[in-house]
Amino acid sequence: MTVPLYLDANATEPLRPEARRAVIEALDVAGNPSSVHALGRAARRVLEDARERVAAMLDVAASAVFFTAGATEANAIALAGAMREGRRVLASAIEHDSVLRAVPGIEMVPVTAAGVIDLAALEVALAADPRPALVAVMAANNEAGVIQPLNEVAALCREVGALLHVDAAQAPGRLPLREIAACGAASLVLSAHKAGGPKGAGALVLPTGWWPGALIRGGGQERGLRGGTEPLPAIAGFAAALEAAEAWRAGGGAERIARLRRAIEQGVRERVPQAVIVAEHAPRLPNTVCLALPRIASATQVMALDLAGVSVSAGSACSSGKVAESHVLCAMGLGPLASSAIRVSLPWDAADDVPARFLAAYAAMAGRLASRAVEPVPA
Ligand code: PMP
Repeated sequence: MTVPLYLDANATEPLRPEARRAVIEALDVAGNPSSVHALGRAARRVLEDARERVAAMLDVAASAVFFTAGATEANAIALAGAMREGRRVLASAIEHDSVLRAVPGIEMVPVTAAGVIDLAALEVALAADPRPALVAVMAANNEAGVIQPLNEVAALCREVGALLHVDAAQAPGRLPLREIAACGAASLVLSAHKAGGPKGAGALVLPTGWWPGALIRGGGQERGLRGGTEPLPAIAGFAAALEAAEAWRAGGGAERIARLRRAIEQGVRERVPQAVIVAEHAPRLPNTVCLALPRIASATQVMALDLAGVSVSAGSACSSGKVAESHVLCAMGLGPLASSAIRVSLPWDAADDVPARFLAAYAAMAGRLASRAVEPVPA
């Protein structure tokens, strides 16, 4: 049996060996980091060591790093805090649902056809209302992979004294983390499993001292920002994964993945010319390509590829497995193509034969389904 081809890294990256080792080691740390006795102090050392290492990867103070259960929770804490402070919350229309659904009344900022936040529209929206604001813009989009102009957004925020919130969940191993952290964001979000760490840990990073307050209080852990006994194995694995991902990226890993991605795109142009490469000319994550096949529903493509042993996703896999029209692609103005797109996201450990294997399956599927192409029924 051939090994399934996993091309859904933006849903979750395969575990990095460094992270696996750190998780296993931390499983044997018996104490609770909040206990004052020796075993508790030993656990606390593991926790604080992880905090220092995550902080070092971002070039921020260790005291700016707060561990959470993942990016969803970190987004929720920040946005709920902004709302509690009476801030308007503006968000790019392509943010992850964990941002867009975090609080009611979010004001959407449109994106261009290339999937980049419309800076002029942001400037107008910020000027239209004098209330203090928080602006949520992701480092890079999880579906189309488009990288966002954080420095430009930060400059607009600075002009009006708005806070910038950056969901950087898709950045590790793909974009330089320190450059992202240097943009001046008041809050920054990471997720362990997107970096090749275990599921169940993430961080809300508060480099400027902004304090959004807690959603979950409990025992006052994480200096009161997030109650609950810290999941040490997941956190230790998170720190190890982040370090490994950044070293791998800087050492040429991301460039190699970008070459494989370009080979896929070239093959698609040659063998499936009716396919549309979404945001083809926009700056994108090195591992991500979103492909639309006109008049063939995304779910049909995902299932056909799955039967051929290729794992990709349609829209955001985080929406509990539901395959609905993507709000990201709709916001980019793709129209009916939005329900005909799949996301191919290469994992850090993709083999050299990935383009050939993917292209064989994709071209075969496109040929077979072409005869069945219909106008998709509006959702
Ligand atoms: N933000 C982005 C941009 C994401 O891609 C995801 C996961 N798809 C999340 C947030 C949610 O992350 P987590 O699974 O850690 O809650």
